[in-house]
Amino acid sequence: MSTTKHDSHSRTIGDKPLHPESLMMGYGYRPELSQGAIKPPLFLTSTFVFNTAEEGKAFFELAYGLRKEDPGEEMGLIYSRLNNPDLEILEDRLTLWDGAAAAAVFESGMAAISTTLLTFLTPGDVILFSEPVYGGTDYLLKHILPRFGIRPVGVLANGGAAAFERAVMDSAVRQHVHMIYIETPANPTNALVDIAACAELARRLSQPDKQVVLAVDNTFLGPLWQHPLQHGADIVIYSATKYIGGHSDLIAGVALGSKSLVNQIKGFRTILGTMASPMTGWMLLRSLETLKLRMTSQMKNARYVADFLADHPKIECVHYLGHLSPDSPEHALYRRQCVAPGSMISFELVGGEGEAFRFLNALQLFRLAVSLGGTESLAEHPASMTHSDVDPEERIEMGITANMVRLSIGVEHPEDLIADLEQALAAV
Ligand SMILES: *Cc1c(COP(=O)(O)O)cnc(C)c1O
Repeated sequence: MSTTKHDSHSRTIGDKPLHPESLMMGYGYRPELSQGAIKPPLFLTSTFVFNTAEEGKAFFELAYGLRKEDPGEEMGLIYSRLNNPDLEILEDRLTLWDGAAAAAVFESGMAAISTTLLTFLTPGDVILFSEPVYGGTDYLLKHILPRFGIRPVGVLANGGAAAFERAVMDSAVRQHVHMIYIETPANPTNALVDIAACAELARRLSQPDKQVVLAVDNTFLGPLWQHPLQHGADIVIYSATKYIGGHSDLIAGVALGSKSLVNQIKGFRTILGTMASPMTGWMLLRSLETLKLRMTSQMKNARYVADFLADHPKIECVHYLGHLSPDSPEHALYRRQCVAPGSMISFELVGGEGEAFRFLNALQLFRLAVSLGGTESLAEHPASMTHSDVDPEERIEMGITANMVRLSIGVEHPEDLIADLEQALAAV
């Protein structure tokens, strides 16, 4: 390779650091290893041929942590449950947005979440978590982890940092907490949880032989508009099905953090078999090239839509991060923690489920579907769809009402989105 060419592992030109969006097309990929192809080929292969038995032995020693790598030694390719070029290039690129040392890619967001929780929790542990969380996460915490002797303790996101402090006043909770798991902004209410305050609490509860790990589900704003590692989080988790994939054509997940924590997670991923397939990795590499364009366009569109909804007489209230009242504590937290308001909006119609359903059934451009973060705009009814599994009383406490509709704003023309909302509201 010519030394004057841009090295695929360089993040700078001279001493000028490059922005992540400039690195999404080539970083981590060496064309000379793939016949000069400008894009990484899809490596549909289950296993990799070793040059010698000694090489195979050396790769396995590293893969199973039997020895430390020699200076400059790179882990070789073994078997696609452990590693694969499409996943390795993708993981390198994903670290850039969050400023993480390492990343692990999974076949779903739930695979990222379940593998991470199983890595750090053991029987007798408590996991503190913010509520509401994604429906699947809620089920994992409340119905599956207790079967393994792990106790979930929920803390309402709208109770602020004080609610977390109250939860750990109980000594049985304080002594056994091994993880804090938060989702911010919360789905579907957009309630914010203070990442730095939770990080400080995790440090305070950690002991020399037990690190309390703070994991943040950053699906709603990340990886562009919120960077939890900068606020003290240990692990960042994504459903890459949403903004990172961005085209509603795949399911995937990511966990990011320090090398030592992510290596532990990867050890579990290898055994649980929750890694992403090469095809998923390849599609995500393609998606990453337009991530900033998509998220920026969606964010701008959402502002127009939220402004329209806020003024509409048939709408009781709008939950949108760009509309927080300037002197509220939520706004101060938003300014500390978030870069932009993103493109998730929920709102409450005047009325109940009947009004919400009439509105949803009248939409023409917005599609009636769960999921979010794709190029097309979506609408759904959290109480009867994404959050129908949550106990009805708890649902109300979390602020998920029968008249609530959640919107994910896409890249269409904002005037068309507003025209559709206007005609659907007229039908209510
Ligand atoms: C969708 C979602 C998940 C689950 O991800 P999958 O890719 O569907 O497994 C987890 N957290 C949040 C916030 C989500 O929106």
